[in-house]
Amino acid sequence: ALNEAKKHQKPYQQYHSGLSNAEIPVLLGQFQNAIRNNEVDFHYQPIVHANGEVCSLEALVRWNHPVKGLIPPDHFITDLEFTRIANILTYYSLETNIGRMEKIYRTGFNLDIAINISITNLFQVDFADRVIDLIHKHHFPAHHLELEITERGFLANDLQCIKNLQTLIREGVKISIDDFGVGFTSISNFQNKDISAIKIDKSFVDDIHINKNNQTIIEGIIAIAKSSHIAVIAEGIEKKLEKEKLLELGVDCLQGYYISKPLDFKTILKWLSKQSSTYPQTKK
Ligand code: C2E
Ligand code: MG
Ligand code: MG
Ligand code: MG
Repeated sequence: ALNEAKKHQKPYQQYHSGLSNAEIPVLLGQFQNAIRNNEVDFHYQPIVHANGEVCSLEALVRWNHPVKGLIPPDHFITDLEFTRIANILTYYSLETNIGRMEKIYRTGFNLDIAINISITNLFQVDFADRVIDLIHKHHFPAHHLELEITERGFLANDLQCIKNLQTLIREGVKISIDDFGVGFTSISNFQNKDISAIKIDKSFVDDIHINKNNQTIIEGIIAIAKSSHIAVIAEGIEKKLEKEKLLELGVDCLQGYYISKPLDFKTILKWLSKQSSTYPQTKK
């Protein structure tokens, strides 16, 4: 199964992590220790409905390195994505974030938590079962868990991947396609696959109010998504004009610095408490 994953693997140099081949194993070793030393945390970026109501929080990993300072995920995720550390990170993320959502539910917000997972996870024989065991252990409602996977991962025609996805979907876990559009696959690939949402990549959202070409692309995506009951989320919205254009095109949900930057757990709790005056509680 991992050989299948490796077929999709690019040489490290292409990842632009800035690290040499010799440095990568060192970094990965450090990352495992970092989890043990509580240097690995998550920031939360809200995703809001067209009407402004908060529907979910995306957990984004942050590594607070004692010497190097804050290391953004782009500097290490691609290097660990095909190692067993991808599994360690995903289970750590699930444990941490499900625990924190329980705290958020006590404040009255009925939100989903969106967790980024790696394709390597889906090649693991017991991945779906472990996720389901974990949510059962926490009595966490499956429909409040969204797993974000890039389109390449979702379309890997591997039996183990498909089995894991089917088991998770049957349990009620939501699956979203992240960074949609950059893989150049058609949305029709996702029809009849029971996915919950596709997240249109920021590169299509940038200056959408003046980019007619991307407007046409997004319109096409929305038309097919609607007919398949797949929600469309726009990522990386930075401007009011982008937000307005996306709403006009019929996007279901919005995410980006214009709504809120990713915030640490304490700050997202504060941010949510300010929302509550306008949107007391989101209900499914
Ligand atoms: P992603 O899942 O597509 O997450 C969106 C990224 O865009 C995040 O970067 C977020 O901070 C950034 N972003 C959101 N809104 C805006 C905006 O308006 N403008 C700009 N310029 N950026 C915006 P971040 O946190 O650096 O994460 C980068 C990528 O690393 C993520 O892309 C995801 O693929 C990966 N990642 C993050 N956390 C995890 C994790 O826990 N596990 C795994 N496997 N991957 C993760
Ligand atoms: Mg994501
Ligand atoms: Mg994305
Ligand atoms: Mg991304």
